[in-house]
Amino acid sequence: MILTVTLNPSIDVSYPLEHLKIDTVNRVKTVRKTAGGKGLNVSRVIHMLNHEITATGFIGGYFGKWLENQLDRDGIDHDFFPIDAETRSSIAMLHDGGEQTEILEAGPTIAAEDAEKFLSHFDSLLDKSDLITISGSMPQGLPADYYTQMIAHAGQKNVKVLLDTSGATLKSALEAPVKPLLIKPNEEELGGLLNRDVDKTDYTALKHDLMDPIFDGVDWIVVSLGAAGAFVKHLDKFYHAAIPKIKVINPVGSGDSTLAGLAMGIHDGKSDEDIMKTAMTTGMLNTMEAETGFVNPAKFDEYFAKVTIESY
Ligand code: ATP
Repeated sequence: MILTVTLNPSIDVSYPLEHLKIDTVNRVKTVRKTAGGKGLNVSRVIHMLNHEITATGFIGGYFGKWLENQLDRDGIDHDFFPIDAETRSSIAMLHDGGEQTEILEAGPTIAAEDAEKFLSHFDSLLDKSDLITISGSMPQGLPADYYTQMIAHAGQKNVKVLLDTSGATLKSALEAPVKPLLIKPNEEELGGLLNRDVDKTDYTALKHDLMDPIFDGVDWIVVSLGAAGAFVKHLDKFYHAAIPKIKVINPVGSGDSTLAGLAMGIHDGKSDEDIMKTAMTTGMLNTMEAETGFVNPAKFDEYFAKVTIESY
């Protein structure tokens, strides 16, 4: 099975407002609450496309219970590690014709003892997993190399790791002896790793960027390019995955949906071409829905057929 890791899950609350008024009351009629955190978006998409998944991470309090109930309702298997502190909420206000203002709680601080115990919990889940995805930033209290420790645990059990994070956590994972199988930086994250500006429209320069020794030992690098698809390195091969022009309703969570597609394609032992096509399709299908981390499986084959892969 596929195991998805969301160390800092969240109840994602969305408030649609015609106009956001500051320093006064804003009333909302329609409120949407979903089980969020990037890894839970990944989980939902994998589940919707009929693959076996289990979601894990830290969870706590009444909000944590609510989140688990939500996953139960959707039929998504989960095995979180319980902590005393409350799971966080994240608020997104969608207002003034397309603007989005977010208020993101940092979430609970993980005690050293819980961090240690989670690794044993994680080990027992690894025994049942072929591939794991690790997504998002880490909760407070964990050391910057915590994902690196998790990747080392997975490596000992020959479990493949797909890592979608940024900043110091990503850097630490790239410097460690045991590497993730795949990383999925966007233009900004790639620039941060290389300490220079990256031009996502220049594929020859991107190819050169991905040959940087910082990526040695990472089999797959998927640079997502929004409407331009993705530029991909797999071992010594380079590709551009191009996608058709589509009507975008809500692009939030498309990176997570792309990771879900990569996880399914790699898990199923598909060809490079089909892995990339699956990932581009799940990314696109997410942008075509109002809900975050949500795809319509009935449209899968139609959009899969529209993705083109070109060697570079
Ligand atoms: P996120 O901020 O959600 O983590 P990201 O920057 O990692 O996103 P993007 O490159 O924006 O990811 O999008 C991932 C994939 O989703 C793209 O490769 C593409 O398949 C699809 N996608 C995103 N935006 C669009 C768009 N405007 N039109 C068509 N497809 C899109």
